[in-house]
Amino acid sequence: MRKSARRPSTVWLLGLAGQPAKRVRQAVGTLAEVRRIDPRDLPGQPEYDRAAPLAVFLDLAAWRALRDDAPAWLAGARRVLVLAEGEEGLHDEVLSQGFLACLTPPLGKARILSALEAARENESALEDISRLLGEAQRERDMLVQENGRLAFFQQLMARAMSSLELPAVLAGLREDLGLAFPVSEVLAVFWGASPECELFVAEGLSTQARSARTDYLLDLAARLRGQPSGQFRTHAVPGGDQAAPVAPGRALLVPLRHGEEAFGCLSVLIHRDLSRQEQETARQALQQLAPSLKNGLDYLLIKRRADRDGLTGLFNRRTLDARLDQELKRHMRHREGFALILADIDHFKKVNDVHGHLAGDAALRHAAQTMDAGLRTTDFLARYGGEEFAAILPHTGASQAWMLAERLRRRVGAHPLRYAGRTIALTVSMGLAAFVPGQAATPASLLAQADQALYASKHAGRNRVSIAPSREELREVYREGALQAG
Ligand code: GH3
Ligand code: MG
Ligand code: MG
Repeated sequence: MRKSARRPSTVWLLGLAGQPAKRVRQAVGTLAEVRRIDPRDLPGQPEYDRAAPLAVFLDLAAWRALRDDAPAWLAGARRVLVLAEGEEGLHDEVLSQGFLACLTPPLGKARILSALEAARENESALEDISRLLGEAQRERDMLVQENGRLAFFQQLMARAMSSLELPAVLAGLREDLGLAFPVSEVLAVFWGASPECELFVAEGLSTQARSARTDYLLDLAARLRGQPSGQFRTHAVPGGDQAAPVAPGRALLVPLRHGEEAFGCLSVLIHRDLSRQEQETARQALQQLAPSLKNGLDYLLIKRRADRDGLTGLFNRRTLDARLDQELKRHMRHREGFALILADIDHFKKVNDVHGHLAGDAALRHAAQTMDAGLRTTDFLARYGGEEFAAILPHTGASQAWMLAERLRRRVGAHPLRYAGRTIALTVSMGLAAFVPGQAATPASLLAQADQALYASKHAGRNRVSIAPSREELREVYREGALQAG
C-alpha cells in the first residue's frame, strides 16, 4: 500500500452511527482520523477539498436521503456503503451506483481494512494520473515556448536574409528584437581584412551622441581584434531613437564570427536588465545571423571597390557619371539649380618629378581629403581622372557654387602636404558649370562646360576658378530675369 506522505488521511462517516460506526472506528484505528458527518448538515465543496477524505463510509438511509440531491463532492468521493442486517439483498444494486465497496454484515475488521486499502489504491492512482498530466502540461508549455522561440529566430533570420544592405538589415533587426525586448538601438561594427572599420549608428542622433557611439564602437572593435582600428566609415541606420542617451549604457554584446574569423560585433542597447534566459535567447538568435551579416559586409566592401577609387577612396568616374545623370534628372524635375566643379592639380607632373611617384600618390590622397573636408555632406566628390576631381553640388546656384569653389581652392593652397620631412605645396585650378532650370543640359554638356572653364583657369595662370558660361553671360541672364539667382 502506497501511503500518501502529505498529511494524515481522513475518513468520513456519513450518517453511520451506533455499532457499525464503532466497528469502522476500531478497524481504522490510527491509520486515519475518523470524523462523523451529519447528513442534515453536509460540508460544502471547499471543506471537502481541504479534508480530501480517503473514503466516505455511509449507510443506506443516508444514501437514499441524499442520492437525488447529492452535493458534487459526494458523487466524486470514494464511497463505501455499509449495509445493515436485512439489506444484504441490495448489494448488487447499490454497487452499480459508483461505490468503491459495499460492506455487508457481519462488519469484520478485515473487510473494513480491505475497503480502506482499495481507497488508498484509488487515491494513489489518481495522484499518479495527476502527476502525469502535470508533466504533460509542462512539456506542452515548454514546446509552446520553444515554438515561440523558433518563430522569433525565424523572423530574425528571414529579415537578415531579405537584404544585403546592412543599414536596412540592422533597422529591421531593431524592429524585430523590439517585439521581445525594449530595444532602443542596434549598433554594429564590422571589419574586413584591412584595419578599417564599418560603423553602423542610428541616423538623426545629436553630434555628441553620435561621437559617443563612434568612440564606443571603435573601442569595441579594437578590443575584439586586439589591434587599434584604422580608418572607419560611419553608416546611418534608419529610424533611430532621437531621445537616446548619449552614452550607450546597457548593451547586449554579440560578437560575430564567420568560421574561425571574427568579423564584427552587434551591440543591442536595451532599456532594462535582461534575465539570463532572455540574454541567452537574444544572443543565440543574433549569432544565427552571422552568415547573413557577413554577406552584407562582403557586399558593402565589394560595392565600395566598384564605386570607389582605390587610391583616394573618393567615388570613381563610373559612379560620378551615374550620379550626375541622376542629379540632373532630379533637379530638372524639381526645377532647381545645381553646380558641377572640375578641379585639376596644378603642375602635378612636377610633384612626381621632384618628389617621386609615392609622394605624388600621397599628394593626390591629401588633396582629395582636403577638398572632401571642405565640402558639405550633401555634396558629392569623385576622382575624375589622374589628378582631376569632380564635385556635384546639389541645390546650389551659380553664385553660391562660385563661393564654395573659391573656398575649396584656397583650402587646398593653405594645406600643403607634409611628406618625408618635406613640405609640398599644392594648388588647384577649377572650372564651374551651373545647371539652370529650364535650360537644356545633358551630363556630357555640363562636363564639357566645366572642362572649358577649367581650361580657362589654366590658361589664365592656374590656381583660380572660372565659370562657364562666363560670369558676364550669366549676369546677362540674371538681368533678363530668366532665372532666379541661386
Ligand atoms: P597642369 O597644371 O597643366 O594640370 O599640369 P600637370 O602637370 O598637373 O598636368 P599633366 O596633365 O601634364 O600631368 C598630370 C600628371 O599627373 C601626369 C601623371 O603622371 C600624374 N598622375 C596621374 N595619375 C597619377 C597617380 O595616380 N599617381 C601619381 N603619382 N601621379 C599621377
Ligand atoms: Mg594638372
Ligand atoms: Mg590633368
